[in-house]
Amino acid sequence: MGAIAGNVRRVMEAVAEAALKSGRRPETVRLMAVSKLMTPDRIRQALAAGVDCLGENRVQEAQSKKDHLAGRDFEYHLIGPLQKNKVNRAVATFDWIQTVDSLDLARRIDRASARLGKTVSVLIQVNIGREPQKAGVAEEELEELAAQLVDLDCISVRGLMAIPPYLADGEAVRPYFRRLRQWFDRLAGLQLPKARMQVLSMGMSHDFPVAIEEGSTMVRVGTAIFGRRPPV
Ligand SMILES: *Cc1c(COP(=O)(O)O)cnc(C)c1O
Repeated sequence: MGAIAGNVRRVMEAVAEAALKSGRRPETVRLMAVSKLMTPDRIRQALAAGVDCLGENRVQEAQSKKDHLAGRDFEYHLIGPLQKNKVNRAVATFDWIQTVDSLDLARRIDRASARLGKTVSVLIQVNIGREPQKAGVAEEELEELAAQLVDLDCISVRGLMAIPPYLADGEAVRPYFRRLRQWFDRLAGLQLPKARMQVLSMGMSHDFPVAIEEGSTMVRVGTAIFGRRPPV
């Protein structure tokens, strides 16, 4: 078995273990392989090992790799910031956009989706660490934004995503995961018409077991599957 296949297997086992530890079924947590900066060949190895969900953070790179992966079956997620001038291309390329943090961006995605006759699933990105350099809606604006997004016809609001502060000790990230989970439950409780609050996207290579214990339903794992990324 190749290195990537072995890594996928180990990560899947660790995901299952964390789920069981917190009294959940392993199938309730989805593994996304974050394939940014990875070649189509390495990505194919991950897909062959059972990965069915890929995350990319640059629209152009993602689009060209998708062409190389034609014929493979996977769900494609944008997990990086989306510039206005790339919205059309992003909507044509991705099944999900996890980085919606403003009504303006959501409206642009909605219009692009309408033109293509599709509905894009979106997650609202929350700036859970209140970090000025990071994208994401502020917590105090989250409810209002969610209520506005459900009025748009060609996007489907499916949940929340966050990139908490990077702390080497995964355990130290737990309070941020917990807070995002509380917002998730709160929004689900509002029962906004048409919103399907099902996906809580949180947890990366170094902290995904903690994220799962705190309720993550989708972990975004790059390094632990593909190894270190080449410098940009
Ligand atoms: C790169 C990236 C990841 C994966 O990070 P690793 O530490 O390599 O697992 C997860 N989420 C986002 C938004 C990323 O940009």
